[in-house]
Amino acid sequence: KNLKKYFDLKGGIFGKKVGEVKAVDDVSFTVYEGEILGIVGESGCGKSTTGKTILRLIEPTEGSVIFDGKDVTKVSEEDMRKLRRDMQMIFQDPYASLNPRHSIGKIISEPLLVHGIGTAKERKKKVKELLEIVGLNAYHASRYPHQFSGGQRQRIGIARALAVNPKLLICDEPVSALDVSVQSQILNLMENLKNEFQLTYLFIAHDLSVVKHISDRVGVMYLGRMVELAGKEELYDQPLHPYTKALLSAVPVPDPDHKSERVILEGDVPSPSNPPTGCAFHTRCSERIDICKTKRPSFKRIADHHFVACHLYP
Ligand code: SF4
Ligand code: MG
Repeated sequence: KNLKKYFDLKGGIFGKKVGEVKAVDDVSFTVYEGEILGIVGESGCGKSTTGKTILRLIEPTEGSVIFDGKDVTKVSEEDMRKLRRDMQMIFQDPYASLNPRHSIGKIISEPLLVHGIGTAKERKKKVKELLEIVGLNAYHASRYPHQFSGGQRQRIGIARALAVNPKLLICDEPVSALDVSVQSQILNLMENLKNEFQLTYLFIAHDLSVVKHISDRVGVMYLGRMVELAGKEELYDQPLHPYTKALLSAVPVPDPDHKSERVILEGDVPSPSNPPTGCAFHTRCSERIDICKTKRPSFKRIADHHFVACHLYP
């Protein structure tokens, strides 16, 4: 709710604050239990920062994160440790997120150890189960990260996240670093696991095609702001925000009868340390009107489950 994360920009020999980056700038949305909410946007739009503030891996500057009725931003360290059992994160880079000096067994059992779950013997058994659940073999527990492929390492990351029976998984571009053929295997696995263990996903991606298959609803972010949020079908069939339209027109359409006009985005993403005034997208928007340059559009409900931040929809 009204989530903000501003990072200070420091400069000079005294490291004085010379500005700030509004990485997340007043973002509000809900993730319903049992759903997969996809969050999409170009790099630097604040989607990863949003995910990390939810787990308080980064402290938000302002706003609240309500999980199961508790404001995560206000709970004590002790309560936060307990909450972290319910909320786990899967990272983009399965190479960087696994300690190369630890065996797979140690890596997967670490969250169990941190939360004081089970005896050594029980943890060992749980690791074997988890390895099989994610499509690896129990004997892999004694091996090391470098002995696995990218896709296998992401399976290990998923096993580690599942170890403590979480409710919510924040998946930060979990397939972006993988080959296309491996991507779909991991996406299928995640979808199956979601159903099997009644999980809820916040699924972050930079590409609308990745979340298309897996998401129930999709939110689009641009320069720290949520610009559109809708049910999957609605967002892909009737996008309202000019930025969503542009992103969608860049996704190849397999059906040749389904011709869509290609919207070409003018220019690059502006620097988040100096975002445009008014609607942050106005410098690249082909539909902009006078007011766009000066007034920031609010994020409002246009239809039942369709939200958009754009002056074209009063
Ligand atoms: Fe384009 Fe204006 Fe809508 Fe922003 S508010 S997306 S500039 S039309
Ligand atoms: Mg990121």
